[in-house]
Amino acid sequence: MSHNPPQNEQRILIKGAYLVTQDAELGNFVGDILVTDGRISAVGQDLADDRARIVDGTGKAVLPGFIDTHRHNWQGALRNLGPAWTYQEYRSQVQIGLGQYFDPEDVHIGNLAADLMSLDSGVTTVRDESHISNSPEHSDAAIAAHWESGIRAVFDHGWPSTEAEQWQFGSARTHPVDIRRIRNEVLSDDSARVTLNAMLRGPELSTPEVSGKDIQLARELDLRISMHVGLGEWGAEQQAIRQLEETGLLASDMTFIHCCTSTDEELRMLAARGATASVAGALEVFMPGLGQPATNRLLAAGVRPSLSVDTETIVSGDMFGVMRATLAYQQLVLAGAAGPMDRVPDLPTFDAADLLSFATIEGARAAGIDDRTGSLTPGKEADLIMICLDHANLLPATDVAASIVAGGHAGNVDLVLVAGVVLKEDGALKGGDTVFAEAAASRDRLFRAASLPLPT
Ligand SMILES: [Zn+2]
Repeated sequence: MSHNPPQNEQRILIKGAYLVTQDAELGNFVGDILVTDGRISAVGQDLADDRARIVDGTGKAVLPGFIDTHRHNWQGALRNLGPAWTYQEYRSQVQIGLGQYFDPEDVHIGNLAADLMSLDSGVTTVRDESHISNSPEHSDAAIAAHWESGIRAVFDHGWPSTEAEQWQFGSARTHPVDIRRIRNEVLSDDSARVTLNAMLRGPELSTPEVSGKDIQLARELDLRISMHVGLGEWGAEQQAIRQLEETGLLASDMTFIHCCTSTDEELRMLAARGATASVAGALEVFMPGLGQPATNRLLAAGVRPSLSVDTETIVSGDMFGVMRATLAYQQLVLAGAAGPMDRVPDLPTFDAADLLSFATIEGARAAGIDDRTGSLTPGKEADLIMICLDHANLLPATDVAASIVAGGHAGNVDLVLVAGVVLKEDGALKGGDTVFAEAAASRDRLFRAASLPLPT
């Protein structure tokens, strides 16, 4: 089964929208935005183009599409299984319990389901943390889904979920060598809509020796690196960022995911090397065992983080929920409910406008694609979304950023473009009609293989 992405529409002119540009020079204003040949060609007042299709932006906000810097897309058909799971329950049920039974076709449908719900909620770029590299065919299936859905994807090649326990927490195995084939034969073009990064385990999930070899391999292949660090008490003991700093490996090509129990000093090391961070605010709030979101501690260290969903088995795959949960945790800390890593009472805080920048331009920076997306800057590829401020749940939208963060949901996302291609319009997603049935069939097959009772 394959799904063909919609084709590029040549010229679109959105008139009279509130533009949240994420470009410091342009700022925010009511105006027009012209898209031609897949790129933003102009942003300003009273733009005209005789050949463009005109879209009325009155009562709407136009933003760069949301950028999710860390999602395990392969779990898209296992959505919402355990919102009250602990970290250990998630590991044993999903990564260890189900991951070993995935066929390439299950990865394909999981990725497609994750991509489509992302697009529906205004996520135009996803960094797919793919620790389902059970075979080369599994990785190929994951990548194929990104091409088909039309989303911008950074495919982050990871490790297998077969023998999952042997691949994490002290693993002596080096990164799967198939990443060389993918780099050389599948994703060699770094300017394409789907690009390649390396999802490495680092010193926290492997050994210092393995970590060094894996990093060397990624850099030899000229790939950016993502790494899960600061995971619960284990992360506090390991201090992965410090280990990387002390061995001279910490650098600006790295994105550190979670950092919940990384020390303040480690976060300052991260900042000093120009590395980036991804806060999975909703997941970290929902799932006991990781620690608390490090957003304020990152800001104190001088890092403006990106945001991420992580696993849809536990939290919703939209960035509205991630932004709200991230804010909710800050407000809990301000109210005195700080966790062990948030002792400091006077950390810098963030507001709704900051959250929108974390979810857009900071995501582009973390994924190394801010030259082409993340803001409404003319010349960038046209990855943008239009949100209906005149819907009942958002009106009268006195403060646009606050309205979107406090009340926004996927139903408010009226229009979605990736590289100028319309993937959602008038509130309706294009394509994906068969995905629900395919996702259910994949889930049922996986549950049967794992001898789990089928959902009723
Ligand atoms: Zn993760």
